[in-house]
Amino acid sequence: MAVTHSEAPAGAAPVKETPQYCAQQPVTKPLLPPDLSSDRLSAILVGRTKWVNGTVLRYFLLNEGNGHRAQLNAVRQAFRDWKDIGIGLDFVEVNQPSQAEVRIGFDWNDGSWSYVGRDVLNISTLQRTMNFGWDLTSRHGRSTALHEIGHTLGFAHEHQNPFAGIVWDEEKVYAALAGPPNNWPREQTFHNILRKLSTSEVEGSIWDPLSIMEYPFPPGLIIQPEKYRSGIADPLDLSALDKKYVQQWYPALTAKPAELHPLQSMELDLAAGGQKDFAIVPTETRMYEIGTFGDSDVVMVLFEEEVDGEEQTRYFTADDDSGAASNARLKVRLFEGRRYVLRTRLYSAWGPGKAAIMVW
Ligand SMILES: [Zn+2]
Repeated sequence: MAVTHSEAPAGAAPVKETPQYCAQQPVTKPLLPPDLSSDRLSAILVGRTKWVNGTVLRYFLLNEGNGHRAQLNAVRQAFRDWKDIGIGLDFVEVNQPSQAEVRIGFDWNDGSWSYVGRDVLNISTLQRTMNFGWDLTSRHGRSTALHEIGHTLGFAHEHQNPFAGIVWDEEKVYAALAGPPNNWPREQTFHNILRKLSTSEVEGSIWDPLSIMEYPFPPGLIIQPEKYRSGIADPLDLSALDKKYVQQWYPALTAKPAELHPLQSMELDLAAGGQKDFAIVPTETRMYEIGTFGDSDVVMVLFEEEVDGEEQTRYFTADDDSGAASNARLKVRLFEGRRYVLRTRLYSAWGPGKAAIMVW
């Protein structure tokens, strides 16, 4: 396994004291059969936090408390920075929390945190899915805004990457975090710092100490690798690997999706993590079924893209058969005169045959 120890870019600020850290919300663990192959399990664990590419994430900013204009603008800018990498996800600010998948608070007594990826869909629209607990206009604050959005896009903490090979001075870490500005109990320090993710939960097989998903650390907390005994700098920006991974999961959308006609099956000839999109343009209003065939794990999401000639991208319904022996299946009423887009991401094709999709 390759471990990269990239040099921090010039200007990266070493931290002298323990900064205030993000406290990521726990990731929902799916109930999976115990006999899954490691490849299949890893494809599910890494893939299930990710949105299907082409999703429009609508976000709502709670304009209260410390949510003054500069703070709100820092969040808007962080969304633009992720989008400017050239990705197929879109971010749209809305003015009603009930219309938003991502609801962002600015409670300075509640730390900074976010749910991870599609877990935000499990949160009631009356609750936040992300909070900022400190000033976002400082350099550390700007990194925090990018970092929390990184969680919402489905990315985990990089310092918990098992490939980092970090050996902590654990008691020093507990002691540093028990004091201000974090005041964390031991469980929280364990959950967010010391606990290593399993190799099946992380992207690739290298550690990226420059990632925006990495915490900065002051000197004295890390024993190994030796060069990080002096600490890890606050990430300045999205790293080269952050950009690579987000483009891998969410490449820019280029081609118009092929049309999926009733009773015509189309092959899902995809590599693990790959996605295929299909347009569905019903010629009659009725109940339809959409299903996959073959030994595959997929998440299939149907969006309404055009209603009465008006363009939009509205989440309609979805199914996810990851880990199950059965196939993904949607039963929906589709309307003549509307245009739908079906986005299908393959976790893995685990059987000998090919996977296919059909509407009828
Ligand atoms: Zn975090």
